[in-house]
This record gives sequence, structure tokens and C-alpha cells, in this order.
Amino acid sequence: MPETAPRCPDCAVTMEVMKLQTGGGYHVQFISDENEEGLLGKLGVNQRYDGQTYVCPECGLARIYADIDED
Ligand SMILES: [Zn+2]
Repeated sequence: MPETAPRCPDCAVTMEVMKLQTGGGYHVQFISDENEEGLLGKLGVNQRYDGQTYVCPECGLARIYADIDED
């Protein structure tokens, strides 16, 4: 996830943070093939990441970044 809001590659304006969720009100997640513990198949629970969505206010282009923890 970028430190500052990205710029639209077409309009060169700053993109705005927006929430992305389904019509049922569920927020969208990325599901990784990797297990949460880093051990494939141990618990059968895959790593999940929330998404951070940026939308261009000019043309509506959206970018979604997985909220990957890099510490
Ligand atoms: Zn744009």
C-alpha cells in the first residue's frame, strides 16, 4: 500500500480513498494461497488481506491495494 495516495495515470489527479464492499455490506478481501502460519495445509486457513481502494474523481478509474503487512 502506498504511503501517499496515488495519482491517476490518465488524469494525473490525486486519487481518493473509497470503501469497496459488496451489495450485502461485506467488505472485500484478498485471499492468498499461502496459509496464515506459512505452513501449507496445516489449518486450512488462508492468509487474508483487506483492500485499500483509490478512485480517480475525474474518470472513475479504481486501484485496489492489498493491505500487506511488511513488518
Ligand atoms: Zn482519472
